[in-house]
Amino acid sequence: MKTDPSTKIFELLQFGEFGDVNPSICDSATFTFMQAKTMLDTFHGDAEGCFLYSRHWNPSNKYLADALAGMEGTESAWVTASGMAAITCSILQICSSGDHIVCSLTTYGGTFAFLFNYVKKFNIEVTFVDITKTEDVRQAIRPNTKMIYTETMTNPLLQISDIPALAKLADEHKLKLLVDNTFTPMVVAPFKLGAHVVVYSMTKFINGKNDCVAGAICASKEFIDSLSDVNAGTAMLLGPALDPLRSSSILKNLHTLHIRMKQHGKNAMYLAEKFKEYGVKINYPGLPGNSGHETLKRMMNPEFGFSGLIAIDMVSAEQASKLMEMMELAGVGYLAVSLGYFKTLFSNSGKSTSSEVPEEIQRDMGLSEGLVRFSVGLDNDIENTWQKIKSCLDRL
Ligand SMILES: *Cc1c(COP(=O)(O)O)cnc(C)c1O
Repeated sequence: MKTDPSTKIFELLQFGEFGDVNPSICDSATFTFMQAKTMLDTFHGDAEGCFLYSRHWNPSNKYLADALAGMEGTESAWVTASGMAAITCSILQICSSGDHIVCSLTTYGGTFAFLFNYVKKFNIEVTFVDITKTEDVRQAIRPNTKMIYTETMTNPLLQISDIPALAKLADEHKLKLLVDNTFTPMVVAPFKLGAHVVVYSMTKFINGKNDCVAGAICASKEFIDSLSDVNAGTAMLLGPALDPLRSSSILKNLHTLHIRMKQHGKNAMYLAEKFKEYGVKINYPGLPGNSGHETLKRMMNPEFGFSGLIAIDMVSAEQASKLMEMMELAGVGYLAVSLGYFKTLFSNSGKSTSSEVPEEIQRDMGLSEGLVRFSVGLDNDIENTWQKIKSCLDRL
């Protein structure tokens, strides 16, 4: 399976109305029409190329959405004001009161909180399973199940979902497979492996600059049209539209994503091997022998590497905090949540991005209180970065 999503982006002819190499930025909430009938047609979604109102569509968001659809191999896409907006709108578009969802137990903390606490008010039930056990997923499916929800590489345990196997299961039971691919853009293309809807927090690798939050939904034209339908579309009616100024800046950053993913992956592999040599318990799906290694290798576009996330186990929260504080002072990176930034970021997952997950569930899923997740940056001299980390470990 040799696909290079990056070429797909560059094939799209996108220049501004004055021939500017970057598409002109849309700076309007509303759009004029010369004929009243065209306005009516646009309301009904029948006027291709016309824009009505920026919460519905606008040219800047369309440029970015088209580029993302090109990258993902989907017919269409929609961009949102955050990753959570992409996730919640997609789920609420598919599920109604009385429906049931099968979800990976290890998911992003916000997604977990939404499915564990929030959807109860809509009478939507959720069963959490170990997503790496396809048989457990099958067992959890009920007559009212509508969706299987997972992340390609799960947060924060870096488990790997077997997307082709889950897609087969979903198709057999006429369910939608929804995949959050935030940790592995370009590395894995879930839609091409059978997923029905792919969601992103663009806040992370896709934008890569930590200057905004944003999200995306990539899917069939039918699904995206239903989301943006003026009468019943969840995205249109809940209204988490991305600001077009932001869309334009994210589009420019998207064009360097393929280079960044290669460098994140290369640096993460280097550090993972060094941690292993040093004798620290390390989790990186790029390492042979890792539980998700073979599954990821089967699904990935190898030229982009195994992504930039590694997790080490410092056993106790105290040791984790000590190491992180020392590393920050040593200039390794920042003690901060989030990922996909050009600088290295690290945080203690149990006490930060997964703190929404109750402690007993954290234990059930095997989340150590000493887990330090690194999002490895684009460092040019990663050997030097390792020397800094090593000196912190030596002094612990
Ligand atoms: C950050 C993140 C989200 C949420 O995205 P926001 O842009 O912060 O709303 C969802 N899923 C994953 C895997 C994430 O890392």
